[in-house]
Amino acid sequence: MEKNFLSTLTGSFAMPAAENPTVAMVEAAYRHHGLDWRYINCEVAPHFLGDAVRGAKAMGWAGFNCSIPHKVAVIEHLDELGQSAEIIGAVNTIVRRGDAFIGENTDGKGFVQAMREVIDPRGKSVMIFGAGGAARAVSVELALAGASAITVVNRSRDTGRTLVDLLNGRTGTSAELRLWNGSVAVPRDTDIVINATSIGLYPNVDQRLDIDLDSLHPDMVVADGIHNPPRTHLLRSAEARGCRVLDGLGMLVNQGVIGIKYWTGIDVDASVMRQALKNLFQA
Ligand code: NDP
Repeated sequence: MEKNFLSTLTGSFAMPAAENPTVAMVEAAYRHHGLDWRYINCEVAPHFLGDAVRGAKAMGWAGFNCSIPHKVAVIEHLDELGQSAEIIGAVNTIVRRGDAFIGENTDGKGFVQAMREVIDPRGKSVMIFGAGGAARAVSVELALAGASAITVVNRSRDTGRTLVDLLNGRTGTSAELRLWNGSVAVPRDTDIVINATSIGLYPNVDQRLDIDLDSLHPDMVVADGIHNPPRTHLLRSAEARGCRVLDGLGMLVNQGVIGIKYWTGIDVDASVMRQALKNLFQA
């Protein structure tokens, strides 16, 4: 019998890298689908990023993820960008096509895919808390998916303004900034409420968003980008008020599903990946 000892390589470049759980979920999918592929978690210091990208190309990697602090810096080392990655200005997934490395951003795409299982964003009114990398990715993809209005609520004016200008200038949505300098009530005509800040992320699980929870209405879908722990204070409060909720595991799993589809061409079973993460976080 012919043997093949050459696995196809993928992985992640980040610093720090040790706490990134993506490897567990991606390798669970590779195993489940009988793929002789590997996902290697690599700690790459910023001054070595270019060498690491060239190394991945030299070794024939099929692609890789980039996480903090490389999502913007990696762009200068790539050959092309996908549409939303170009608008967002950040890349989390690199895909090899022939000899070229193409930069994509699956953070927001994963979020929208998870959201579509609960609500179609087309024509919907969104309030998003935060204006950092996650908020940029999520709001650009929601805008490209047809969200009609997006209110960005952010503590610092400059970052908030930059995101609102980007949405108004590069997408068809109507965006506005609301400064977050006290408790914010969610307007009654809002369809989708999203926490895209780092509030609630382990170990600061008791940190809470300064919002008027009683302004959440049962018609609203409330989503949280925090995946550790997945059942955040915001989601528990929203559920108690009758809202449909979406946790950060959905975003994380779906961005992985989309990344693996880019690399392998295969639609992997999202439930296998979600279970691998749930096992880690005991959710
Ligand atoms: P950034 O550092 O780029 O942005 C953080 C955002 O949170 C900023 O808007 C910041 O506001 C806001 N913020 C932080 N602390 C507070 C506070 N105490 N009060 C009000 N606002 C606050 O981070 P990212 O956007 O990259 O990541 C945000 C979160 O999204 C992370 O915790 C990460 O876990 C999650 N994420 C989840 C993913 C998933 O797949 N589930 C994927 C990517 C990210 P300001 O501008 O005023 O500083």
